[in-house]
Amino acid sequence: MRVAVVGAGPAGLTAAYLLKISGHQPMVFEAEEWVGGRTRTIRLDTGHHLDSGAGWLAGFYRETLGLLEAVGMRDALVPIDLRSCAFLSEGGKLVRVPTGPVSSLSFSLLGPKDRLKILLWGAGLVMRQPRGDLGVDLRFDTTSAEVHILKSVGRSAAQVVFEPLVSALYSGLRELSAASVRSFARALLFTRFYSLSDGMDSLWLRLAEEVEVQTDSPVRRIAAPANGGVELVLDSGSARRFDGCVVAAPITRVRDVIDGVDLPPWVDSVRYAPHVRAYAVRSGSTQRAEIHPVGGEEDVVTVSRGSGGWLWGALPQGYSAALVGAAGKLALDLLDEPDEKVGRLLWERAAAVDPDLFGIDRCRLVRVVKWPEAVPVFAPGHLSNLASWKQAPPVVFAGDWTRAPCIEGAVRSGIEAAKVFGRA
Ligand SMILES: Cc1cc2nc3c(=O)[nH]c(=O)nc-3n(C[C@H](O)[C@H](O)[C@H](O)COP(=O)(O)OP(=O)(O)OC[C@H]3O[C@@H](n4cnc5c(N)ncnc54)[C@H](O)[C@@H]3O)c2cc1C
Repeated sequence: MRVAVVGAGPAGLTAAYLLKISGHQPMVFEAEEWVGGRTRTIRLDTGHHLDSGAGWLAGFYRETLGLLEAVGMRDALVPIDLRSCAFLSEGGKLVRVPTGPVSSLSFSLLGPKDRLKILLWGAGLVMRQPRGDLGVDLRFDTTSAEVHILKSVGRSAAQVVFEPLVSALYSGLRELSAASVRSFARALLFTRFYSLSDGMDSLWLRLAEEVEVQTDSPVRRIAAPANGGVELVLDSGSARRFDGCVVAAPITRVRDVIDGVDLPPWVDSVRYAPHVRAYAVRSGSTQRAEIHPVGGEEDVVTVSRGSGGWLWGALPQGYSAALVGAAGKLALDLLDEPDEKVGRLLWERAAAVDPDLFGIDRCRLVRVVKWPEAVPVFAPGHLSNLASWKQAPPVVFAGDWTRAPCIEGAVRSGIEAAKVFGRA
């Protein structure tokens, strides 16, 4: 079959690669000039690179690691340390986030009762949450994560630990379903983290070599006429016919251009959290730290800083970098502001979270990255809706919003979309 794939992110390229292996003829259409979607790597003139979106893969990303293996890129995995450099900031005072049960027992921001509650919650996840990495327990899906966490660990632990760490993943506890937070927390408990030596987009650049990809080609209409097949209308106005289509772009970007396809009504309410980041590099060194402020769900500002080695990409020896990120309302407000203003404002806010952050003025390079659709919000009910949604050709939907809000979710959705078309 001739199958069009809309979007050259992890979901679309995984689907296209597997469709080709199954004997189909996939053709990928990508709106931007680059492939990789939200795993975009920006290669900088200082000779290093910045992972402008996703920064890590986790050890439980079974399918993503399998793809790396399949294309001979397993050696590109670089182990990174996200745990021992994680801090919470309260009024500018940094407290290390516990990395295991023993260190959590002496965690100074919480009293002994609250520490015990967190330990018990973690133990409950290990015992009862479905294992199968990213396994979902739908019994928790109609409850908001806020209600569940308050009930399980109490108010102070929810505010001091859970809200800052979860908000840094771009939505507050109130917006998420308890099932989605439990599934992620369980999977992350004992995992290791990795980056890719040539940038997070390098796997997708590699897959794009195997299939036909047309970049700079936003799809403006996707129609399934009653007489069969799929018609795609491109930005240029030209129309192309295919036997089937995998739509692997964020649903908010394509919802309004789909015609003649039955989509369940809940799809209209799917939304994404925005994220805005400023990245700056200077010569010299600074201690490695990942800092999350305690409180402030609306305008969480996270600070990652370090020297040499790895920091959201490769960083040359002799240089330090910092990445300041905003989520929630602050990110939304900054999306349309000029980059220079965004950089300064984020740095100002970050100084309150991290008093040791170096100034932005004498940095050699400053980059601002804006993601209007950073991560899909898995609101209460979303996972249950997905579980009862049966997809069939000719138009099939993929993307992180259909599986889990991460690279592995996107890859798994691409695998499932390709399976729907079977072998040619
Ligand atoms: C700042 C940030 C940090 C993140 N950190 C992590 C992390 O550390 N680890 C992790 O696992 N995940 C992380 N993620 C999430 C991860 O990047 C996404 O889950 C993943 O990229 C989703 O893949 P996808 O293929 O579903 O969508 P995308 O990556 O968004 O790809 C979709 C593609 O569709 C294209 N497109 C859109 N509209 C059209 C159209 N009309 N026509 C043609 N093409 C179109 C887009 O340009 C894009 O290239 C992060 C995301 C962001 C933004």
